[in-house]
Amino acid sequence: MAGLDHSFDIIVVGAGPVGLSFAASLAQSKLKVAIVEGQCLEKLANPAFDGREIALTNASIRILRGLGAWDVIPASAKSPLQGARVLNGSSPFALRFDPPRAAKEPLGVLVPNFRIREALFKITRLQDRAQLLCGHSVVDAASSRQGAAITLSDGRLLTTRLLVAADSRLSATRKLLGVSADINRLGDSMLICRVRHERVHHQIAVEWFDHGQTMAMLPLMEGVSSLLLTLRSNEADELHALDDDLFLMELMRRCRGHLGKLTLASNRHIYPLVTTWAHKFWAPSAALIGDAAIGMHPVTAHGFNIGLGGQKHLAQSILTARRDHRDIADPDMLSRYQSWLRISAAPLYHATNILVGLYSAEHPAARFARHAGLRLAQHLPLVRHGISAMLRR
Ligand SMILES: Cc1cc2nc3c(=O)[nH]c(=O)nc-3n(C[C@H](O)[C@H](O)[C@H](O)COP(=O)(O)OP(=O)(O)OC[C@H]3O[C@@H](n4cnc5c(N)ncnc54)[C@H](O)[C@@H]3O)c2cc1C
Repeated sequence: MAGLDHSFDIIVVGAGPVGLSFAASLAQSKLKVAIVEGQCLEKLANPAFDGREIALTNASIRILRGLGAWDVIPASAKSPLQGARVLNGSSPFALRFDPPRAAKEPLGVLVPNFRIREALFKITRLQDRAQLLCGHSVVDAASSRQGAAITLSDGRLLTTRLLVAADSRLSATRKLLGVSADINRLGDSMLICRVRHERVHHQIAVEWFDHGQTMAMLPLMEGVSSLLLTLRSNEADELHALDDDLFLMELMRRCRGHLGKLTLASNRHIYPLVTTWAHKFWAPSAALIGDAAIGMHPVTAHGFNIGLGGQKHLAQSILTARRDHRDIADPDMLSRYQSWLRISAAPLYHATNILVGLYSAEHPAARFARHAGLRLAQHLPLVRHGISAMLRR
């Protein structure tokens, strides 16, 4: 195609929140960057509500602020998280997580995923540094020490010094590069919608590990919460298919009065749960970021937070290499990025998976273990404060 560039310093595959953040992090360099995205421009510019409310840590907010994206998100879309409670079955006992008394900041801030995408897209367009190639998927990719090449669904061949896969947990680019991954399809799905409710939420989130279901209630604006119900996938599909009235009755039955009377405040979304951990976060002339590297279970609300920190680390390594006239795809640099990401994400990834296993098991030993675990944690301030500090990082 005449007039179009085919050769870049960096090609990012995927204009999700992590791919866009990465491109924005590189904007101060003179690197020639392209972002390839399967969705069309109109959908990227005006992303639709997708049910996800992302619990951003204070570290993530600082990164978004540094990129200029935080201030683009409307204040009405930011809901502070002043605490969290963890409940087990029908026990009235709640494990509490609160910010330290002297803390000025909340535990975190909830922001709808589509607002984060929208803000990052606006910033990328304003910076006007990266070329956006939308409406084309990557259908082939290959890389060697010398560079990488991709083929788009329209047949175009693009070459690059560094190829960065940010195309989600089932990343096609990762597969095409020959990087294997642990992919765990859990057989559960998360059903999400916003509800209006009678009772006041006090900006406190509730994670309730009930028998046969896990429910999270995330406080948004006054009188509105996001309800996240995790069930076996067939059960979630049945619930998702009900008409509004029946769906609402079933939600109220499952909430057992926790929020009082409910009405629906959004459409519903369903996510089959899959966790992934790539065996390598780099290949010659290529790197993985975001969910393409690590796809967390959403129960501990950290997938995007980890992806955002990871892209920042990689972008800074590239900017330093560029400043020092070194190769931006130096294998030692990519290997250091991998080590850093593994060390920083592995504890949370594995702890989350253990938690999910323990809290979805229904045999008596598991029930006892979680009951005892919550009470123990309540009496071990170091554990509670450690988790609160991690959330507030
Ligand atoms: C229900 C739910 C709740 C969550 N809550 C939280 C939370 O509270 N806190 C938190 O930190 N994280 C949370 N997460 C995780 C968070 O949503 C993800 O970690 C984050 O979206 C990952 O961003 P990404 O850019 O890596 O991938 P994605 O958001 O998946 O974006 C990938 C992009 O790549 C594009 N793409 C895919 N394949 C191709 C291809 N072949 N060619 C071109 N483009 C392609 C897609 O169209 C998409 O735009 C939650 C996840 C879920 C499912």
